[in-house]
Amino acid sequence: MAMILSCSDSRVPIELLFDVGFGDLFVIRNAGNAFTEGSLASIEYGLEALNIDLLVVLGHEGCGAVGAACSNQTNLSPSLSELVLHIRKALIDADVPLDPEQAVRRHPVLTAQQLIRSSQLVAERVKSSALTIEPACYTFDHGNIEWMGSIHDG
Ligand SMILES: [Zn+2]
Repeated sequence: MAMILSCSDSRVPIELLFDVGFGDLFVIRNAGNAFTEGSLASIEYGLEALNIDLLVVLGHEGCGAVGAACSNQTNLSPSLSELVLHIRKALIDADVPLDPEQAVRRHPVLTAQQLIRSSQLVAERVKSSALTIEPACYTFDHGNIEWMGSIHDG
């Protein structure tokens, strides 16, 4: 029924959060719910092969990857460093303060925008309203999902 690009964090169990089971969600996860070639390719598969019309990009409070991007952590492995720097650059380019509380809420929006910019398929589906992207942030305090506003057209 939907695709979810979320963080790998174990405190964000997607099927439990959305109260769904087998066969319901097409889930893509990585540290920091980030744009990567792999996440984009998986989303394109969901569009082409499964014709899914809803993508939720779900960040969360206390995200380690987004926190590292805000603090410019330097003791990371090369691959992780690349991912974190990518998140940091997206935040800086969008003038988002490097404050974890704000960054975890804005980063899902930035990831959604980058998916649209980087993929003709995603852009066309959004433009023709065949795909709605919903950036959101899961908060541990109240167990709420804060919705950041639909992206109908990038
Ligand atoms: Zn996270």
